Amino acid sequence: MGLSKTIWAAPSEIIRTQAPEHPVMVFAPTVLQATARRFIAGFPGMVTYAVKSNPDEMVIENLVAAGVQGFDVASPAEIDMIRRLAPGAALHYNNPVRARGEIAHAVAAGVKSWSVDSVSELDKLIEMVPPLGCEISVRFKLPVAGAAYNFGAKFGATAELAAVLLRRVAAAGFVPSLTFHPGTQCTDPMTWDAYLRAAAEICETAGVPAFRLNVGGGFPSHRQPGEAPALEAIFTLIDRVATEAFGSARPKLVCEPGRGLVGDAFALITQVKAVRDGVHVFLNDGVYGGLTELPIVGNIERIEVHTPEGKPRSGELVGRVVFGPTCDSVDRLPGDLPLPADLAEGDYVIFMGMGAYSSATNTRFNGFGQMTTVTALSLNG
Ligand SMILES: *Cc1c(COP(=O)(O)O)cnc(C)c1O
Repeated sequence: MGLSKTIWAAPSEIIRTQAPEHPVMVFAPTVLQATARRFIAGFPGMVTYAVKSNPDEMVIENLVAAGVQGFDVASPAEIDMIRRLAPGAALHYNNPVRARGEIAHAVAAGVKSWSVDSVSELDKLIEMVPPLGCEISVRFKLPVAGAAYNFGAKFGATAELAAVLLRRVAAAGFVPSLTFHPGTQCTDPMTWDAYLRAAAEICETAGVPAFRLNVGGGFPSHRQPGEAPALEAIFTLIDRVATEAFGSARPKLVCEPGRGLVGDAFALITQVKAVRDGVHVFLNDGVYGGLTELPIVGNIERIEVHTPEGKPRSGELVGRVVFGPTCDSVDRLPGDLPLPADLAEGDYVIFMGMGAYSSATNTRFNGFGQMTTVTALSLNG
């Protein structure tokens, strides 16, 4: 189809001229760069990008072009890719559990910032990482909600343990810092409020001032119809509460958004394979493909439906059960998805805000998942 050679105007042009039979990820570099500039202008500290949310090389290159100078990496493969695409960028190795071989790889690659949430993993770092000029951030967690799902279920020390770890980091000659992740798609800014105040208490208990405080990712993308989430309101709150909580001992701030940076820069074009007996909608993509996350994080209802001619359908919205293409009964979107009543076989359903945790986790299960990525000037229309 020659899809990768062209910059399209918008998804409707791709539909009209290419009639794609497989899912298409549409990337708008201008949207990504604008979001990156918004973070850099508005966030009161350093903006880094969580590579796992979308490691597409075009994404990395556009973020670098927009001024992003640091990356949250979680594996040797991510470290090597960023070293290749952005040789001067800071690498923050913030996966708190690492095999010894992975630590050795990162030391050799010049990683100078690490995170940790346990005594055993800190012992490994103290043993293997030369401390001079090297930062170790203690990752802590709180029993708070506010996000689409709770990242504290896997990583994060209690506040009590975090104070012990922070003291040990400083005693071993590393630069002591703190980090947390409020949980992905966090739409309640008060979650950051609670974490910032807890961070100040941990420093107080430890008797160790934090050099930096990394406030994580978790910044929401635009998944529902209506207004986009107000990123600036979150930035302002973080700035105010950091000063209130730490006073003159305020650490330098870092953030590491994945979804909040890349989510809205992609739309996913899927096609209706069938409307089975007028009821169930079968798409050519599902939870083993680009829509993996929907059963965990919730449906994206910022959707456009186009006819094969690329015209928007505007029928009244009715809730439909939507299945993906595989023969696995798990391959179903949660609950009902609001779709136009006049939806028909061959129509295209475009999911907006699909940049994060989509192409990165796409599989070829059951022979599906043949996804292309193309570039467009705009994702609207
Ligand atoms: C996944 C991850 C992020 C990015 O989270 P988003 O919710 O996509 O912003 C940031 N930091 C760490 C340590 C992560 O594991």
